[in-house]
Amino acid sequence: MRCLHCDGDEFEAKNCRFSPEVKGEEVEVVVPAMICTKCHTPLMNDEQMSQLRKTTADAYRKAHGLLTSAEIVSFRSLFGMSQAAFANYLKVGEASIKRWETYFVQDVGQDEHIRLKCDEAYAEYSALSVHWKSHPPDVYSGNRRFSWELFKQAVRYLIEFAKSPLFLNKALFYADFKHYQLYGVSITGARYAHLEYGPCPQQYENLIYFMLHEGVLIQADSHTLKNIGTANLGIFGDSEKEVLNLVANLAKADGGKALLKLSHQEDAYKNSESMALISYEFAKHLKI
Ligand SMILES: [Zn+2]
Repeated sequence: MRCLHCDGDEFEAKNCRFSPEVKGEEVEVVVPAMICTKCHTPLMNDEQMSQLRKTTADAYRKAHGLLTSAEIVSFRSLFGMSQAAFANYLKVGEASIKRWETYFVQDVGQDEHIRLKCDEAYAEYSALSVHWKSHPPDVYSGNRRFSWELFKQAVRYLIEFAKSPLFLNKALFYADFKHYQLYGVSITGARYAHLEYGPCPQQYENLIYFMLHEGVLIQADSHTLKNIGTANLGIFGDSEKEVLNLVANLAKADGGKALLKLSHQEDAYKNSESMALISYEFAKHLKI
């Protein structure tokens, strides 16, 4: 690295004040730069350059009451969404999310849109998570805390094979209980209740509603749900993927009808009380 002004080659890292312009307006920021020890001209490496752009954008956002890059990131991570999922939820391009989370200042209309959509999702999400997080892991959650993200991806994957909620519920039940039988923990941490039509994840309707709202599922017709995009299987461990595949293969042949029938013959169903939560201990005698 050589100084552009005096050709010197000695630098030291210092925090310096700059006054770049955003949308025709000057903002002041202090960011790290390399300073030539001879003539004090600042020079920046790529990382310092992107920090300058981001800090500049955030200074402008703060001055104008817009969401900062960190606030946009924290909204997105609160809902456990990838940039692609968040883009889909906001109905904008993924590139916009990438830019808003860094150097590009969203306009006032876009800012309002992000806030509205996130407030709406936040209200629903907190109702859900308060419900689920209030329960520590136990024998009714398969010894793990409920994970909204894992549940969501399991639904997105299994819905390809068991397309109606009735059959999907059984596929989820089998995936979680089978994994518990083999490894002593469930996959998603979901709690299952004994309902008239078989074992079913607790608060199932709310969970699906939230996925529809988020835009990762759509209602194909009155009895069928459809996944939008691809399930992210990368978040599952190998044993979890194997069990999900096993259940998917069982459901593939007839859309989950046989699993539905079988679920009614399980100890987990026969020996649990109507409307009550089902203990994962019943997984010992699972029929798959
Ligand atoms: Zn110099």
